[in-house]
Amino acid sequence: MISILKKNIKNVKYKSYLTGSSFLSNSLSNPIPNSISNSSSFISTSSSSSLLLSKQATQIKQSYKWNSIKYFQRYNSSTTTSDKINTTASDKNNTTSDNLDTSSTTKEKISSPPSPPPKKSKWGRIFLLTSSMGIATILFIKLDQKYSNSPQQEFNDGSSLLSLKTGGPKMLKIASHLNDDENKKPKLVILGSGWGAISLIKELEKDKYHVTVISPQNYFLFTPLLPSATVGTLESRSLMEPIRSIIKDLDAHFLEAAATAVCFNDKLVEVAPLTSNSNNGGEEKEMKSFYVPYDKLVIAVGSQSITHGIEGIQYCHSLKTINDARTIRKKIMDNFELASLPTTTLEERKQLLSFVVCGGGPTGVEFAAELYDFLTEDLVSYFPAALRKEVQVSIIQSSDHILNTYDKRISDFAEKKFERDNINVITNARVQKIEKDHVLYKMKNTNEEKELKYGLCLWSTGISMIPFAEKISSELPEQKNKRALITDNRLRLKGIKDSSVYAIGDCSTIENPKLVEGLMKFFMDADLNNDGALAYDEFSKLVKKISKSYPITSNHLRKANDLFEEFDKDKSGTLELNELRDMLENIDKKLTSLPATAQVAHQQGKYLGKKFNQLALAKSTPSNPDLDDKLDPFNYAHLGSLAYIGNAAVADFGMGYTWMGGWSAVYLWRSIYFSEQVSFRTRALIFSDWTKRFVFGRDISKF
Ligand SMILES: Cc1cc2nc3c(=O)[nH]c(=O)nc-3n(C[C@H](O)[C@H](O)[C@H](O)COP(=O)(O)OP(=O)(O)OC[C@H]3O[C@@H](n4cnc5c(N)ncnc54)[C@H](O)[C@@H]3O)c2cc1C
Repeated sequence: MISILKKNIKNVKYKSYLTGSSFLSNSLSNPIPNSISNSSSFISTSSSSSLLLSKQATQIKQSYKWNSIKYFQRYNSSTTTSDKINTTASDKNNTTSDNLDTSSTTKEKISSPPSPPPKKSKWGRIFLLTSSMGIATILFIKLDQKYSNSPQQEFNDGSSLLSLKTGGPKMLKIASHLNDDENKKPKLVILGSGWGAISLIKELEKDKYHVTVISPQNYFLFTPLLPSATVGTLESRSLMEPIRSIIKDLDAHFLEAAATAVCFNDKLVEVAPLTSNSNNGGEEKEMKSFYVPYDKLVIAVGSQSITHGIEGIQYCHSLKTINDARTIRKKIMDNFELASLPTTTLEERKQLLSFVVCGGGPTGVEFAAELYDFLTEDLVSYFPAALRKEVQVSIIQSSDHILNTYDKRISDFAEKKFERDNINVITNARVQKIEKDHVLYKMKNTNEEKELKYGLCLWSTGISMIPFAEKISSELPEQKNKRALITDNRLRLKGIKDSSVYAIGDCSTIENPKLVEGLMKFFMDADLNNDGALAYDEFSKLVKKISKSYPITSNHLRKANDLFEEFDKDKSGTLELNELRDMLENIDKKLTSLPATAQVAHQQGKYLGKKFNQLALAKSTPSNPDLDDKLDPFNYAHLGSLAYIGNAAVADFGMGYTWMGGWSAVYLWRSIYFSEQVSFRTRALIFSDWTKRFVFGRDISKF
């Protein structure tokens, strides 16, 4: 009954609405009655009485307007009354009478002039309705996601933590509560939350492993854009993605802590928490190390800056973490503010505004480029013009070109660009010592010693192992490389027999063909005159041959002259067999087969993720204990290297293919990094930062 009533009321409204519309369209096509428009035309022809007539016309228009308003008011009140009567009647009578009543009302409405519904409000209502439906849908989806996803992990009430068993060589608590369950999935522990670790996590399928991620950093950092954060082109937070949001879909655990050791026999990782909690009395609570058990362990702990044993390195900044970027940004602004003070002398100003970068690799070059952009695009507008003349950006590079791992044409392009931008590129110079306010360096060709004053010095000359990786390396006799942990071509750590430990990314290197094992053959082939020693000519031919056969060694064999001098220990002018062996061993130790880049770490992480998914499906048998051997080895595909060089960018795709240029290359560079973002959130933040910078410039406030 009620539904029929509603339907009828709807019908009435709909019909009156339709008739109203037609009335409105009529009114709109001829909004003023003929008499008025005629009067108007008359007004236009009679010039003598125009004022009087225009007054009359206005009065007629006014009276028409008021009459219409009164009419509509009367009509509306009568409609409301009849509606009320009909509704009351329909409540009392049956369906038929309802219909009759309604139809009579409809007739009445059609016969009487209907009210014109305001056209504007119709569209307004449609707009309001659509947008509120849109908002409601979004809210619904969000709420649905929120409640269907949470809680991902069961909250631990603490009882299982208290009852943890102790064990291992140091009798520490063993965090077995993270992965004790009925279905006995293998325990996969991942050390690190950088490129390698994240690519692995993203590739893993749910429910195949108990995954625990351990890292002192509770976020993933998009390092390729880190130089942009040193000058505020991008904000720090735009480069960070919380690790917990990345592992959410995997139901994995995260521990903000650092791995300090691994007990390979017991398959336990020793972990030290970072933060120390304060109890209510304000006293520091001692944070105890504990063990995390594993079936498979992935070491993806990255690297640290190499110091080359240079004295005074503590005065330099490095650029590896988000804090480094923040500190540098603040220091740049500090220096500019100090330099603007009236009490600062010219000498002091020059020093404050001298920015020195030690290392002409991609990181050093990109930092110099970002700094140059910042100075020319933003700082000049806000600081006294005199300061601009005092600003100096310098790069000290030990080899003959900056970006020397890139194609030679790219190095040349970058050097020319920097020359135009007045960035001082000093090549073939080795840093000797860093003092508090200046860098001492020596020109390699002339041995001339020089010094360069600085207000900020960035040290960016390569990478070495972090102490944790060094410790692991020192405990395994098979680990002989000074720069990285050695793995086989399936990324398994050398020295561990059962395929339970893997190492990826910057902290690792895939074992290369051992040059020293081919010593005798190399020597016999090279000793053309069979005198039992290699003259320089014979040696240089051998070096070329090895470089060709093993391209990975070519970097270390480039300077045959220097090598010959270095390993001719007895200064006889020839290399004997034992001297050649020393040289090959030395090169073997230095080789890191693949570059330490995000691209390599990313591909290795993906490879391991896929492999672990496959291994989880397969069952090992006594006759086939190590399934890993059956799977494909890691194969790196180089997709190219990019570098930003200040309103221009370069790309080296390998095999001689390069791209260098201004804005087109910058957009390529940006779009590649934009697409590589790990989440939609960081993509949106980065896009907004780039837009903000374009519209308002960089933020120069210091905090
Ligand atoms: C400024 C800058 C710019 C770069 N630009 C580029 C570029 O343009 N292109 C490119 O390909 N590469 C670039 N790189 C290199 C790239 O960032 C690295 O090659 C890549 O990050 C290596 O990945 P990873 O997983 O091995 O290590 P990382 O990404 O460094 O991650 C290491 C992780 O291990 C964690 N960790 C450290 N110690 C421990 C411990 N004891 N226990 C547990 N966890 C630990 C760290 O907190 C971190 O989360 C750049 C690097 C820098 C610093």
